[in-house]
Amino acid sequence: MSGGSKEEIVIVGGGPAGAAAACILAGAKRPVLLIERDAEPRHKVCGEFLSIEAQTYLAHLGIDLDALGASSISRLRLVRKRKLIEVGLPFVAKGLSRRILDEALLQQARSRGARIIRGMAVRTVSADPSQIRIDTGAHGTIAAGAVFLATGKHDVRGVKRVSAGAMDDLIGFKMHYRLARKQQQALEDAVEIILFSGGYAGLQLVEQDIANLCLVVSRKCFEQVGKSWDSLLDHIVDECPHLAERLQGTEPLFERPLSIFQIPYGFLHLADPTEPQGLFRVGDQVGVIPSFTGEGMSIALHSGYLAASIFLAYGRASSLFHHQMRFDIQRSIRLASILNHAVRHAMGQQAVFHLCRIWPATMQHVTTLTRVQEASMSRALLAP
Ligand SMILES: Cc1cc2nc3c(=O)[nH]c(=O)nc-3n(C[C@H](O)[C@H](O)[C@H](O)COP(=O)(O)OP(=O)(O)OC[C@H]3O[C@@H](n4cnc5c(N)ncnc54)[C@H](O)[C@@H]3O)c2cc1C
Repeated sequence: MSGGSKEEIVIVGGGPAGAAAACILAGAKRPVLLIERDAEPRHKVCGEFLSIEAQTYLAHLGIDLDALGASSISRLRLVRKRKLIEVGLPFVAKGLSRRILDEALLQQARSRGARIIRGMAVRTVSADPSQIRIDTGAHGTIAAGAVFLATGKHDVRGVKRVSAGAMDDLIGFKMHYRLARKQQQALEDAVEIILFSGGYAGLQLVEQDIANLCLVVSRKCFEQVGKSWDSLLDHIVDECPHLAERLQGTEPLFERPLSIFQIPYGFLHLADPTEPQGLFRVGDQVGVIPSFTGEGMSIALHSGYLAASIFLAYGRASSLFHHQMRFDIQRSIRLASILNHAVRHAMGQQAVFHLCRIWPATMQHVTTLTRVQEASMSRALLAP
């Protein structure tokens, strides 16, 4: 693909949003080229909690989570200092590592006829009224009729997100562990949300005996505790003996944790009347929900479905998609942002914990209210 080539539809990024769009478009027999920067499957910073909505989309795409080895999660524990509250989740969630899930989704897209190029990074995207140009550096330039921008947290030159106003002082970390047998049994069937000063962590089993510890912490706290993963863990386990117990006799499965900086939590793309048509922003490129609620993948899948179905019905009408998407997710993002703000500060944490203790159903309500609503899902799932 050196020099210049022409494509009808190009998807940039092969995470859940890009892969879902590729599956729908290729399934409708449209020629689709998906470009993914990573040459090989890899781990990504994520709590790896799959809500019921995410599972519904994945099932429609032919992904069998149980066959892939996903864990089941039906209880939620909220832990703060020495106290713990437990409630049943309003649905059975699943845990599966992103390295397995993202690969299975790309495999589905390929089997439906999408062409997938791996190990190629898009450098710049520029759009004019009739076509969009994609610069892939040494691999040349592609002119496309429509582009689905699905690069997740990574912005691409020429089409960067305008994320002013979003909270971006948080750092995300993820580490996989093989837990001691007793701790593995104690964690089975549950997701544990651990509140600590400066942030919060999620701990759950993903496939088989692997546990995922994923957390976000304010930059200020990270610097205060010594700016290293070890010092951060010490800070958390000092405050929360529950986590110290879980990590006793544990084996870290990565040499060092994965990390992500400046996550623009609360970002929601605002369609602008002058924006070029044919450029569909999907997944984290259209909206970033704070991770506390474990809903990012379901929003990513929803956006991939909806963008593809609007393209199939109305062509390059990306503003129509962006308006609809804003309508579908703005309530969830607002509520999750308020919660995220609260649980980062000691007083907010105390208030949230107290409310959940006297009224445990609060936790269930929150998990329900921050979900993509059924009517929006049904609309997106009407895609051919
Ligand atoms: C700390 C944290 C915890 C989270 N926990 C959960 C959770 O438990 N449950 C949940 O549902 N959601 C969670 N999320 C959110 C979830 O991870 C994201 O919302 C989701 O991954 C977004 O999917 P996506 O397809 O938009 O982007 P991504 O999954 O980020 O995929 C983007 C893809 O694009 C590729 N790419 C990037 N740039 C280029 C380029 N220039 N050219 C070509 N390819 C490119 C990348 O390699 C990648 O494969 C969490 C997020 C964070 C930060």
